[in-house]
Amino acid sequence: MPERTLAILKPDCVKRNLMGKVLGRIEAAGFRILSLKMVRLTRETAGGFYAVHQERPFFNDLVAFMSSGPCVPIALEKENAVADFRALIGATDPRDAAPGTIRKDFAASKGENIVHGSDSPENGGIEIAYFFAEKEVVEGR
Ligand code: UDP
Ligand code: MG
Repeated sequence: MPERTLAILKPDCVKRNLMGKVLGRIEAAGFRILSLKMVRLTRETAGGFYAVHQERPFFNDLVAFMSSGPCVPIALEKENAVADFRALIGATDPRDAAPGTIRKDFAASKGENIVHGSDSPENGGIEIAYFFAEKEVVEGR
């Protein structure tokens, strides 16, 4: 059964005109794009998305960054989508990310790290539903 994961092209990715390059890698790696759109998160919607991190020292900076400009949530599908997507993007800190990963090649720092990926299939479903109505998630390929 194919699995779903949520990616977000973060504000640094959009601002630096890297959307095409990152989307190209996502498509080349065999992910089906079920939906995508550009949104501007408020502090509230960014904080809600990252609520699990609200007690962490980096939370305020993370919310400020994620609401600093437009970003692009993307619903993805693939066999083993969650683990394969995290392998494609690499470790949170680009200094720790494997060669050839998106974060290694494009990210400026641990905070501004280009792209989000869900950390479990369950969260993949929850996070897709945070941004997309069911009718916006388009199957058929
Ligand atoms: N983050 C940060 N400093 C840290 C850890 C995380 O700024 O020490 C930011 C970073 O943008 C990261 C996000 O918070 O992508 C969520 O953190 P998480 O540990 O879930 O990393 P991810 O799942 O994105 O690799
Ligand atoms: Mg995470």
